[in-house]
Amino acid sequence: MKKLGFGLMRLPTIGGDFSKINLDLVQPMVDMFMEHGCTYFDTAYVYHGGFSEVAFRECVVKKYPRDSYTITTKLPLFGKPDRAGMEKIFAESMERLGVDYLDYYWLHAMGRGNYEHALKVGAFDYLRELRDAGKIRHMGFSFHDSPECLDQMLTEQPDVEFVQLQLNYLDWEDAGVQARRCYEVATRHGKPVIVMEPIKGGSLANPPKKAEKLMKDYNPDASCASWAVRFAASLPNVMVVLSGMSELWQVEDNLSYMDNFVPLTDGEKAVLEKAAEEIKFAIPCTACRYCTDGCPMSINIPEVFALYNNMKRDLRKKGEAKEKFAELIKTSGSPDSCIGCEQCVNACPQHLEIPKLLAECSADLS
Ligand code: SF4
Ligand code: SF4
Repeated sequence: MKKLGFGLMRLPTIGGDFSKINLDLVQPMVDMFMEHGCTYFDTAYVYHGGFSEVAFRECVVKKYPRDSYTITTKLPLFGKPDRAGMEKIFAESMERLGVDYLDYYWLHAMGRGNYEHALKVGAFDYLRELRDAGKIRHMGFSFHDSPECLDQMLTEQPDVEFVQLQLNYLDWEDAGVQARRCYEVATRHGKPVIVMEPIKGGSLANPPKKAEKLMKDYNPDASCASWAVRFAASLPNVMVVLSGMSELWQVEDNLSYMDNFVPLTDGEKAVLEKAAEEIKFAIPCTACRYCTDGCPMSINIPEVFALYNNMKRDLRKKGEAKEKFAELIKTSGSPDSCIGCEQCVNACPQHLEIPKLLAECSADLS
């Protein structure tokens, strides 16, 4: 199997509305991906407000034979569903996707809190039942917590087959994400790893100038994104690296080096280590948007953080960032309207203190 997977969480949209996917733009992206022999698609019940699964049905299921691709989707436990709730979510996913079985079904964004709920409602047993009934082929979970928590989960749930991890060269030794240690735990338990966020929400495609120069000096033709994807794909226990592609040129760029994938050389690894030292983000948001749906004040949290990060990276762009911020809060809630309900904090896989950070952003961008 090719190591490049198509993440369906950042698809092109219409009019900036995240729930309106531009299928006319998605179709050629899917076609190019499939033409190059890539087969792995990843979505989730919550992506694009549920329309990512629908887009998959429209652009893949309706056009390609069932045995020419694999699909992964994910069962969210954020809303604390009981058994009936999980059954409803699964049925809805199947209807949206238009398939009669899933290749892979994950519990979504697991960590200590969700794990406790999973045990309480028998979520792992539910996945086992689905697997025994042939409705899913493989079970696993995506994960955002400590290596100790991962070790406990894999010890207590030994028949889980795969783990999806946030892994990239910046988070490899990061004290919060601890990607290397999580990868090592999964490997020790014999679980193949599916990589998410290899480009850290797109931010490693456009790193600070010093880091970019190191990469360009070594290889002027390689995109910064290619360094990040190849870093993850070079790890021996990585089965697939997901790239959340939004435009056709990104599919083209990814295929240019993943079609006939060559692992990083020692020289390239050394360049990336140096580049990582040059990269700091004020707010390590990956723009996953898990926080936005439930915000009662409709604050576009990832956009606010992206503007803030851009401004901090290049202070000459402060004026531009302020202008964009003024535009943004005309169509979405102002960070100042945050009521501190912490819904977003509970949903954030990066464990960001969102209300506090929003206040800082607002003070600097207003
Ligand atoms: S704490 Fe603020 S930003 Fe977060 S969900 Fe509540 S209102 Fe929205
Ligand atoms: S703040 Fe957290 S949940 Fe929201 S988009 Fe960023 S990383 Fe995702």
